Amino acid sequence: MATNRTFTMIKPEAVAAGNAGKIIDMIIEAGFKVKAMKLRHLTKEEAGKFYEVHAERPFYGELVDYMSGGPIVAAILEKENAVADFRALIGATDPAEAAEGTIRKQFATSKAENAVHGSDSDENAEIESNFHFSAEEIVG
Ligand code: ADP
Ligand code: MG
Repeated sequence: MATNRTFTMIKPEAVAAGNAGKIIDMIIEAGFKVKAMKLRHLTKEEAGKFYEVHAERPFYGELVDYMSGGPIVAAILEKENAVADFRALIGATDPAEAAEGTIRKQFATSKAENAVHGSDSDENAEIESNFHFSAEEIVG
């Protein structure tokens, strides 16, 4: 995958609150193109595997329950400097620390339930995209 892509999920509480459309609007307004998108309810096993890197952290069990607790919207996004620009758009993990105008500032309700995921590197963007999408689900 080209390095101008990143992977995102709109997390369960944001989907349940009816904020998915508004969040997608902010993403498109910021200049990202949607290359793939789907609504999915992750199983506990899938959520556990996706966040395996956090398996040793004290909040892992809570994170797996949360991310498998309702449907998410998964998407692959394209833009120059996608990974860093998307992290800037979503803001800090804790909404109390997120800058004005960021998605998490506007929609996150806590450090745990923080509305959106964004990949932290080009390598992880590719791994995470492949976790959720097959090649034929991504537009050229
Ligand atoms: P980010 O999503 O900003 O990359 P991390 O990779 O550190 O943040 O954590 C992954 C996810 O785990 C966060 O988005 C959040 O949902 C959850 N999380 C992180 N830290 C905590 C915490 N201290 N307590 C509960 N949940 C947390
Ligand atoms: Mg992270």
